[in-house]
Amino acid sequence: MRPRSSPPRSSRAPAAPAALPEAARAAVFEGPGRPFSLRALPLEAPRPGGAIVRVTMATICGSDVHSWMGRRPNPAPGILGHEMVGVVAALGDPPPADLEGAPLHAGERVTWSEYVACWQCERCLRLELPQKCRQLRKYGHESIDAPPGLLGGFAEYCHLLPGTPVLRIPHAVSDADAVTVNCAGATMAAVVEAAEVAPGDCVVIQGLGALGLWGVALARAAGARAVIGLDMVEERLAMARRFGADLVLRAGEVSAARLRELVAERSQTGGADAAIETAGVATALRDGLALLRPGGRYVTAGLVLPAAPVELDASLLVRGVLTVRGVHNYRPRHLAQALDFVARSRDALPLAEMVGRRAPLDGIGEAFAHAAAHRGARTAIVP
Ligand SMILES: [Zn+2]
Ligand SMILES: [Zn+2]
Repeated sequence: MRPRSSPPRSSRAPAAPAALPEAARAAVFEGPGRPFSLRALPLEAPRPGGAIVRVTMATICGSDVHSWMGRRPNPAPGILGHEMVGVVAALGDPPPADLEGAPLHAGERVTWSEYVACWQCERCLRLELPQKCRQLRKYGHESIDAPPGLLGGFAEYCHLLPGTPVLRIPHAVSDADAVTVNCAGATMAAVVEAAEVAPGDCVVIQGLGALGLWGVALARAAGARAVIGLDMVEERLAMARRFGADLVLRAGEVSAARLRELVAERSQTGGADAAIETAGVATALRDGLALLRPGGRYVTAGLVLPAAPVELDASLLVRGVLTVRGVHNYRPRHLAQALDFVARSRDALPLAEMVGRRAPLDGIGEAFAHAAAHRGARTAIVP
């Protein structure tokens, strides 16, 4: 799979770049603890093999909040936001192709990978880890001084760089249905794959934010007989039930021994076949390992902040014959799997309700404060 190589050009003429404004409004991240500034940034022509997308919705992901609060480094001035959807406004020459090899057209609604890889280095090709590419660039993680400047979701327009895996969004799928696909959704498609969830499994999910809710739904779709969700936030527990969790529990309110009993009652193998961490709390690793049956799998995806020490009895790994895996981001196929899941499940699951409050670009300061304080649904910016 080489998204960079475009198929022969479509006979349809690309949209005239002249239709684009010369500048686009962006909510610029000026550094932790400082207010966002609304700036008009020059809108450069789309790159060959790239495009320009008019952003129609971008959600505030947990990692955006971490950057805003200074818990992890992010270039400033920059544009945050990587979980987003939009409409193709202009195409480069040649235009980019989607993951099925078909060239994009102006006016099409798209979602795209949160990262751009070179598709040539050993990490891309030999290790099959494009998210760890030697030339990696990530949307929402760039300085506005790095050309072409507009590379984040919290702006009117975003460049789609050549090499970005991109997919068309089906007409029936709304922006709110699809907006979490390219971070939470695709990441959890990779996580559920890494957890090797199989029909009949009992799966524990620690943390029921957007990642956890996607995890509940995808584990169910993979055939899990029981999905048990843990979180501290009542609103999230209620949502997890609607996404298919059989049992939801307030983390910390049930003793470890009682939790093991509850898991064993719902399992055919005496414990959890797989446990998934999306809580971002290091001690969850120790607690989750204790719930696994012999030979069980543990996948951690939420511990993204540096310095997450945890003390555990490592002999549990050996004696339990356990597997522990870390998953960070995803491969292009997981993006396709997540979007396909949305298209097939949007009538059955309240996917659009993962998005709560919506704010315009100039309401971004309040939106971030809300997202940081309110640990329920995602907050969205509608530029
Ligand atoms: Zn994210
Ligand atoms: Zn690479």
